[in-house]
Amino acid sequence: MRLTVLGCAGSFPGPEAACSAYLVDADGFRLLLDFGTGSMSPLQRFAGLYSIDAILLTHLHPDHMLDASQYVVARRYAPGGQFPPLPVYGPADAPDRIAAAHGMANEGLDDVYSFYALQPGTFPIGPFQVTVDRVLHPVETYGVRLEHNGRVLTYSADTAPCEALIRLAQGADVFLCEASYLDGVDNPPDIHLTGREAGEHATKAGVGKLLLTHLVTAWGSEAETLEAATASFAGPIEIVRPGARYDI
Ligand SMILES: [Zn+2]
Ligand SMILES: [Zn+2]
Repeated sequence: MRLTVLGCAGSFPGPEAACSAYLVDADGFRLLLDFGTGSMSPLQRFAGLYSIDAILLTHLHPDHMLDASQYVVARRYAPGGQFPPLPVYGPADAPDRIAAAHGMANEGLDDVYSFYALQPGTFPIGPFQVTVDRVLHPVETYGVRLEHNGRVLTYSADTAPCEALIRLAQGADVFLCEASYLDGVDNPPDIHLTGREAGEHATKAGVGKLLLTHLVTAWGSEAETLEAATASFAGPIEIVRPGARYDI
């Protein structure tokens, strides 16, 4: 499978990146993990406006779902005719939240999306075996493990340190993990990881490669985050960029 980073800015758009959106494709099937603020732009730049076969929203913070509302226009009013409903996996509130953001709370979006409520467990999406579990964040949030042809990609979503994330990432070839906070400062509890904590989870899970994401450019320091992660994980580490591709 192949991972394409579309947006990777943490919490709000950065000067050079939209918010979280990651396209994973295998066997010609394209699954979009999160659809955060502004990510329709890199979707068009690095993939294509209609290059999505399913969407999985890890949680309903705007930086992970807002463009799923914007995207309604692109599918419903396409000049060549409306596109068929697109499968969207997410928290149970996803239909109401996406419709409310679109100002169509009473009309619904069933003509644009087919919604499936996530629960912890394993299920197929296209060619992928998908496992999701609740991670530690102030709203209902799912970490994601994707398996295809014996290869594994785990995506942390947004989370504070938790055992569920270590289980999801166990033996993963690539671990795409948030590192929102700086180490050595007084961070609010139970929301996000630091670089050191991302590295610790990678080590405990025995992953092959650690990709750091969801850094908050305005408040953070890439150099400090990378240094902290390197101190707690001995394997290869990268901070992801929009447009970066990884064969897994
Ligand atoms: Zn976030
Ligand atoms: Zn969040």
